[in-house]
Amino acid sequence: MLNLQHIHYAYTQTDSLNDISLTIDAGEAVAFMGPNGSGKSTLFKLINGLIQPSAGQYYFKDQLVDARFLKKPTQATALHRAIGFVFQNSDVQLFNETVRAELAFGPEQMGLAPDEVQTRVDDCLALLQIEHLADRVPYQLSGGEKKLVALGSVLTMNPELIVLDEPFNGLSAAYQTLIIHLLQQLNQAGKGILIASHNLAQVKQVAKRVVVFNEDHQVTHDLPLAKLEQEPELQRTLALL
Ligand code: ADP
Ligand code: MG
Repeated sequence: MLNLQHIHYAYTQTDSLNDISLTIDAGEAVAFMGPNGSGKSTLFKLINGLIQPSAGQYYFKDQLVDARFLKKPTQATALHRAIGFVFQNSDVQLFNETVRAELAFGPEQMGLAPDEVQTRVDDCLALLQIEHLADRVPYQLSGGEKKLVALGSVLTMNPELIVLDEPFNGLSAAYQTLIIHLLQQLNQAGKGILIASHNLAQVKQVAKRVVVFNEDHQVTHDLPLAKLEQEPELQRTLALL
């Protein structure tokens, strides 16, 4: 579904992604780990078409994602519907007057019938156990509540791939567990999951493959979870991130 070939990205002079090559198949659950500043969020922005590589190629479903691709509304829309992105910072994601409107926004933009939008919103509110927040102003919610609403606003669009950048930050233990179970169910239902996290125990519950970045913004490891289980040294390193 996604293919990255020798990707570089530089915000300024130095690379924030340094020669990244990756293939991610439909339905895979992949965790991205690495020290702060290693490039995980930058990679996610690139996968979501928010930034474009300085060098290298990014293919989404065999189509090259470049400035020309993203300028075509039909192509850009196809990418943004297929890939749902839950930002690290929920404040940049939430802009509607109520939680209900926030969850309805995506499906409304897709042109779904009002009763279908309503059904999706109600289903996602229930799935995330945030029915009690439906009429609240997203801006005024706690960090953890915002994160759940951001996830809800992505789930109502029913994306093929869900990209979550450090989704557990600010969530209570109960909500972290709820999210983990939800991601497991979504993956079993065939959804792809990409997750950046520092928590190895949680990564092991959600992902079946782990990609590790280093401080030089390179990928140092890319291995199935089963293989990682046989590498105690690497696990010790990851547990200290
Ligand atoms: P991670 O998500 O792994 O913590 P990031 O992708 O956020 O890492 O950052 C990778 C590198 O890019 C870091 O060196 C960071 O300082 C730099 N960086 C991130 N965002 C910006 C930005 N908007 N402008 C300049 N440098 C940035
Ligand atoms: Mg980050």
